[in-house]
Amino acid sequence: MASSTLVWLRNDLRIGDNPALAAALKNDAPVHAVYVLEQDKGLRALGGAAKAWLHESLKVLNSDLAGRGVRLHYCEGESKTLIPELVGTTAAERVYWNRRYDPGGRAHDSALKTGLRADGIEVESFNGSLLIEPWDIATKQGTPYGVFTPFWNALRDKPIAEPIGRIEKHEPIDPPALELGITPGWADGMMAHWSVGENRAKHMLTDFLDDLLVNYPRDRDVPRKHGTSQMSPHLRFGEISPRQIWFAVRHLIDAKPAMAEAGGKFLSELAWREFSYHLLYHRENIANHSMQERFDAIDWRSDTSALHAWQKGQTGIPIVDAGMRQLWQTGWMHNRVRMLTGSLLTKNLLIDWRKGERWFWDTLVDADPANNPASWQWVAGCGADAAPYFRIFNPVTQGEKFDPDGEYVRRWVPELKDLPDKWVHKPWMADAGVKDKAGLKLGATYPEPIVDLKASRSRALDTLKR
Ligand code: FAD
Repeated sequence: MASSTLVWLRNDLRIGDNPALAAALKNDAPVHAVYVLEQDKGLRALGGAAKAWLHESLKVLNSDLAGRGVRLHYCEGESKTLIPELVGTTAAERVYWNRRYDPGGRAHDSALKTGLRADGIEVESFNGSLLIEPWDIATKQGTPYGVFTPFWNALRDKPIAEPIGRIEKHEPIDPPALELGITPGWADGMMAHWSVGENRAKHMLTDFLDDLLVNYPRDRDVPRKHGTSQMSPHLRFGEISPRQIWFAVRHLIDAKPAMAEAGGKFLSELAWREFSYHLLYHRENIANHSMQERFDAIDWRSDTSALHAWQKGQTGIPIVDAGMRQLWQTGWMHNRVRMLTGSLLTKNLLIDWRKGERWFWDTLVDADPANNPASWQWVAGCGADAAPYFRIFNPVTQGEKFDPDGEYVRRWVPELKDLPDKWVHKPWMADAGVKDKAGLKLGATYPEPIVDLKASRSRALDTLKR
């Protein structure tokens, strides 16, 4: 059998700007690609919503790869045995992959690399997911960054590698049949909200830059609007690379200097993703350990029924319930509402941030190994550059500020749709007559608030201060 190159795809489900794939295609030898749904010890298993996304994304990628002459393989199990096996069956002499940055994944990849090299296989890894490698950016003292703003200032001055332009192509093949079946039953409806794959990601970016970016600084905080890019699941699975986004925005700003402010704001959000990866790489397992260790001494409340009410969008706090239902139905939630739902859980309900992080991990299509734990730690106050512990969002005033006419709440919590704007974020304060007229019976058609916001705020402050 002729020798081949094997590309191990993980969080890089695209053809364009894919360094590992581009390197493999440069060689004349046949190219095989593989995705392994990994079950190895020490690696974080994908959540249900992410699996649903992956299922669709692999279907698209399979035919895109076949058009380039690359055969995609799919398997489930331990990559530490499956990859060497596939190296044997495809007669691969070279194995290429793009890096991952979680401590478990890195240790795993490095052991695999050593083993394959010992067998005489050429192994190369590349940067396919970040603007800059975590070890290529450091403070003046040479230490990792712990605060976002200096990190962002340093990142802006760094030379970012341009996305890879032309990619070689081999003779097209027929796409192989893939035995996938990995979408959990509950996630079927959720995927109706999304179109998946590299082409879709590129179109979404173009539409966003053409139509929405100009108002991004203002609209990004308005949950009822489509005011953000919704690129997060595409970025999570690498259907588009951050470098492709970075350079598209930079070119737009060069062509239209009036877009500098909006473009800069958008790039700074992309930089939060980089910052999360910086933390993921440099800190100890951020999905399990509070970055500020003293937070691990907190006596979190164990309250299963409150946790369930929060998960199901039945807390009786309208904007929180709207967000949790948007999450359950679509696999995505607006950033501002992610902060509010996280704050209610960790502060007002004093439930451990890890429980919220796990729920998001299972239900978000963009569940990201860096962004999810880093953002949860930010909300809980225990992160590297977190909101201080005494910053406790008031979901009523936040709702009134960012959803003044209650349109977002009414969309996801139809039980409240006939309440006047004035009460839609605080139905428990409306007069009996107002509630009757809106067909609202608290405790029957919609829950009473799960906590008293003022009292629970004080409890959180006392506990956290201690
Ligand atoms: P845009 O505003 O269009 O931003 C563009 C891109 O920049 C995003 O796709 C994302 O990659 C990055 N970005 C934007 N805001 C942030 C941020 N605050 N932190 C890190 N990166 C950011 N984001 C995830 O991608 N995956 C997660 O699992 C995730 N979990 C979160 C959990 C909590 C509790 C909170 C508060 C935030 C979480 N975020 C997560 C960050 C943020 O909410 C999402 O990235 C954003 O809402 C995605 O929508 P968008 O693509 O339209 O964002």
